[in-house]
Amino acid sequence: MTGNDGRDRTRAATRLVHGGTLRSQFGETSEALFLTQGFIYDTMEAAEARFKGDAPGFIYSRFSNPTVAMFEERMALLEGAEAARATASGMAAVTASILGQLKAGDHAIGAKALFGSCRYVLEDLLPRFGVETTLVDGEDLDQWRAAMRPNTKTLFLESPTNPTLSLVDIAAVAEIAHAGGATLVVDNVFATPLLQSPLALGADCVVYSVTKHVDGQGRCLGGVILASKAFIDTHVHNLLRQTGPAMSPFNAWVMLKGLETLTLRVRAQTAGAEVIADFLAAQRGIKRVIYPFRPDHPQYALARRQMSGGGTLVAFELADKQAAFRMANALRIIGISNNLGDSKSLITHPATTTHQRLAPEARAELGISEGMLRLSVGLEDVEDLTDDLGGALAGLDGGKISDLASR
Ligand SMILES: *Cc1c(COP(=O)(O)O)cnc(C)c1O
Repeated sequence: MTGNDGRDRTRAATRLVHGGTLRSQFGETSEALFLTQGFIYDTMEAAEARFKGDAPGFIYSRFSNPTVAMFEERMALLEGAEAARATASGMAAVTASILGQLKAGDHAIGAKALFGSCRYVLEDLLPRFGVETTLVDGEDLDQWRAAMRPNTKTLFLESPTNPTLSLVDIAAVAEIAHAGGATLVVDNVFATPLLQSPLALGADCVVYSVTKHVDGQGRCLGGVILASKAFIDTHVHNLLRQTGPAMSPFNAWVMLKGLETLTLRVRAQTAGAEVIADFLAAQRGIKRVIYPFRPDHPQYALARRQMSGGGTLVAFELADKQAAFRMANALRIIGISNNLGDSKSLITHPATTTHQRLAPEARAELGISEGMLRLSVGLEDVEDLTDDLGGALAGLDGGKISDLASR
């Protein structure tokens, strides 16, 4: 539905079902999977015109492909971005969005609390190519301000962070970036496009691992970069086109189908996470529960301000590593996996998996204790999940299930 001004007036759920659809001459209902590397031109003149950019059309699937284009357009409509580029994985999106803006002699700032591989890009990879980086405590706006230099080109953060679910004030960091002539890139995986809109908060670029909630059913890897057309044209387009971290048409097709059910899944998984966070907080043996929309979250006010839901992840702490391992090993429905955003509930021990690479002091600084577990809530019946968690916790008390029943 378009208004008089020609603008799309539909809401997220509708865009996720219809947005970006390109129909072939067969009028197929479901998006077609164009599993092709290249395209045939009618004439040499047509090929020439397409390469010159004088005629529209596809050239080669490293640059663009109809199925991938449908996915990009649907993501752009969802995010409210002018342009989107799909990539082979979330890390390809993160790397290209940062690297594309930088050259030797530039400076970048990142929050310390990051998905492990994002931290590697900032901390290890960029300095090898003459880009200086500073890592700050993302919650502390003074540290962002103090880190700004004349050659600072870009700031990078995720919020909520992995795995401690702490928040960064996106609007405030965007202001700091812009005051110094830099850009802000936000990794929005944990919030999903439905619960937080970084571009509306002032960010210049948003990146996703669509491996997570967008697929949501554990099948394919993928990533996407969303920004203004100018940002994509200047920083991203050529880097992707010439270096080749392209999303396969097959994966784009899987992601398109994932997007159709994204609202339903994220809504249900968020509702489940809220129930589970409250359930865990009431259990003996749990030292702390971290969930952005629980009033005891230290940044609850910020969560309410910049997110429309608390998300599908819950972090919680047991006494120590042994208790965390014993509890997770006793789970019957919830699987042990470092993945997240899946329809299957998954639990991980960040200190020994996703954040193992960090020195113990760095982990401590981020609040990743030996007893911390990160739970990604799936689509199972939430009572089965609380039964599973409760049963595993009861095992820690030496199997006194009666304790649990009396609560
Ligand atoms: C998973 C993840 C990534 C990396 O995505 P891949 O698709 O695994 O490459 C980046 N950032 C965050 C926050 C993630 O959860």
